[in-house]
Amino acid sequence: MLNSVKDSNYQEHSPRKKCLLCDSSNITALFNRWEGAVVKCRDCALIYQFPQVSKERYLNEVQKHYSDVDPSSRVAYSRKKLYKRFLHQIVHIKRKNARLLDVGCGGGYFLSLAKEDGWEVYGLELNPNLVKKGIYDYGLDIQCSDFEESNFSQDYFDVITLWNVLCELYNPLKGILKIKKFLKPGGILYLRTPNGAFHLFTYRIQQVLRKLHLVHLMPYQSSIFHIFNFSNRTLERVLSHNGFQNIKIKNSRPTSGDPYGVKKGVRSFKVFAYLVAQLVSFLTRGRLTAAPSIEVLAENAKN
Ligand SMILES: [Zn+2]
Repeated sequence: MLNSVKDSNYQEHSPRKKCLLCDSSNITALFNRWEGAVVKCRDCALIYQFPQVSKERYLNEVQKHYSDVDPSSRVAYSRKKLYKRFLHQIVHIKRKNARLLDVGCGGGYFLSLAKEDGWEVYGLELNPNLVKKGIYDYGLDIQCSDFEESNFSQDYFDVITLWNVLCELYNPLKGILKIKKFLKPGGILYLRTPNGAFHLFTYRIQQVLRKLHLVHLMPYQSSIFHIFNFSNRTLERVLSHNGFQNIKIKNSRPTSGDPYGVKKGVRSFKVFAYLVAQLVSFLTRGRLTAAPSIEVLAENAKN
C-alpha cells in the first residue's frame, strides 16, 4: 500500500528527504519498489528510488547488472544509427586533436565509431570485463573507474557523452558538476536517457488496465524505472542551474530491433510511441517531449 510507504518506510528513512537535484522538500511517494519506494519531486519532476542503497552495494549491483544485460554488445549495436546521427551532428566542431569522453562506455562500440570519425577518444567504464573488451577489440583508451572518482584535467574535453548513463549514476548532480569541470568552455554535453514522464504515464495506464483486468492489452512491461528518472523539465532545470546554456531537449529515436529480448513486436511499439511523441511535440511546438527516451544537447557556458 502506498500509504504505508508514506507513513512509515518513507518518512523513517530520511537520508534524502530533500530532492538531490533541486533541494526541494516537496516530495511525494508514487509506489513501493524493492526495499523502499519510487518517489517524485514536485518541483523539478525528478523520479527516484528512495531510500538509496549504500554506494558500495550500488556499484556492485550496477557492475553485475551490466555484465548480464549486454555481454555481446547487442544494446550498443542497436544504437548504431543513433551514434552515427550524433557524430554527424557534431562534425562541425571537430578539429585536429578534438577530445571526446564517453562516460559509461561499455565495450566501446560508440567510441570506436567516434575514433573512426577522427575524434581523440577516451572512455570511462565501471565493469573491468567491458574495459578489457574495449581495449582488446578497438584499442581504446578506457579507464576502469566510477565517474565520481575520475580525475581528468579541467577544461580538457570538447565533447562529453552519456548514453543512458545519467540515470545510473549514484549521484547525478555530482556527475553534472564533474562534466562541467572537465568540459572546455563552450564544450558540448550530449546525453540520452529514458524519459521519466513517459514511463510514469505508461505505469499509470497499466495500473488502470490491471484494475479493469485488461492488462493483457499492454504489449509488454513498457514502464521502466531506474534509480533516477529524468524528464524534459528536470534536465532543463538542473542543467541551466549548473552553468549550461543552449539546452536542446527532444524525443530520441528508438533503437533498432529488440536488444533486450523483451517480446516480439517491441520494435513496432517503440516506433509507434516515438511517432505519437513527435506529433505531441509538433502540436506543442516542442514544449512536450513524450517519447520513451529523450536526448539533450547543451553547451558549457563560457566562464
Ligand atoms: Zn527536485
